[in-house]
Amino acid sequence: MAATRTTKVLIIGSGPAGYTAGVYAARAMLEPLLVQGIEPGGQLTTTTEVENWPGDTEVQGPDLMVRMEAHAKAMGCEVVQDIITSVDFSKRPFVAQSDSGTTYVADALILATGARAKWLGLPSEEKFKGFGVSACATCDGFFYRGQEIAVIGGGNTAVEEALFLTNFASKVTLVHRRDELRAEKILQDRLLKNPKIEPLWHHTLEEVIGTDSPLGVEAMRVKHVDTGEEREIPVKGVFVAIGHAPANELVKDVLETHMGGYVVTKPDSTETSIPGVFAAGDLTDHKYRQAVTSAGMGCMAALEAERFLAEQGEDAALEVAAPAAE
Ligand code: FAD
Ligand code: NAP
Repeated sequence: MAATRTTKVLIIGSGPAGYTAGVYAARAMLEPLLVQGIEPGGQLTTTTEVENWPGDTEVQGPDLMVRMEAHAKAMGCEVVQDIITSVDFSKRPFVAQSDSGTTYVADALILATGARAKWLGLPSEEKFKGFGVSACATCDGFFYRGQEIAVIGGGNTAVEEALFLTNFASKVTLVHRRDELRAEKILQDRLLKNPKIEPLWHHTLEEVIGTDSPLGVEAMRVKHVDTGEEREIPVKGVFVAIGHAPANELVKDVLETHMGGYVVTKPDSTETSIPGVFAAGDLTDHKYRQAVTSAGMGCMAALEAERFLAEQGEDAALEVAAPAAE
């Protein structure tokens, strides 16, 4: 029989926002339940060195997330491997359905579903996904030992991926649509000094070219954004790193979103338009999108959920103390 789990606070997502909310909610004695989703640990599990997490000069992303999970559990947060498939926000307690068939019933919700890699939307990109086209260098870089490959994008992710891929590839072409990188200066310096990386400025990827049987990438067709001139460059792999979009599927028809789907919260707060529903991390943050800011918002969400639940308790107590006049 399908199980029902009841909790004061349900946290959806296991990135820095979710685990930090778990630590704070557990320390507030709210006995939170955290559902991890398809990517336990979130986006940082797809990277290697993290150099801007305070207190660690350098830490591996997956290690950091294992430590965050252990921290949340040690404080009393229950961590469950499951995926939330829908939430009924129309009344409280909120009722969430999950992939495992378990129903979660919660007085307050903390949404921390983060963000996911964006794709260019080319048919050839779709065709070769998993067969030479990837959005995760740490996952797939190893397959390209001694090969020539390409990274598309000019942000922190693209530059970090290009640098990481030089551990395996003989050459990495960084295809960027402008001649200025969005990545941090320290990463730009490393990129421009790396002899294995060749930036291809003012170009876009038009097509991934490869074989059908077996499915595999042989080249890419790129276009100069000003002249329109096209050319083919031989590559065995293409890593798309053009940013991330908020994972808002559970809420996009219910909560207000802006700037490409980020959930709107009240100023200086994680409160959404539905009382008792809080949103934290990359799901709401179109501006900073960092582990430390996500963790900060996770903290805020737990503190705000605690305050919300306390106020509900006080209201209920007042109702009991003062029955309605006849
Ligand atoms: P995420 O980390 O995106 O986690 C979202 C969580 O929600 C996941 O656990 C997922 O499983 C879960 N989830 C989603 N949908 C559901 C569902 N339906 N049910 C249940 N769970 C669900 N930031 C830095 O500060 N420093 C760095 O060095 C750095 N490097 C990065 C490198 C890469 C390659 C990438 C992609 C990002 C990097 N970032 C870095 C950004 C950082 O990873 C994010 O800002 C941060 O992870 C966002 O945290 P979050 O908790 O909001 O969400
Ligand atoms: P991002 O900063 O949004 O950069 C996306 C890049 O892809 C930009 O250079 C953009 O070009 C390009 N791009 C977007 N759409 C494109 C398209 N359709 N065709 C071609 N190019 C396209 O995304 P991100 O690099 O994934 O970073 C996301 C967030 O995570 C950021 O806040 C970042 O700081 C954070 N992060 C941090 C670290 C770190 O701290 N070390 C590491 C990774 C990620 P334009 O520049 O022309 O817009």
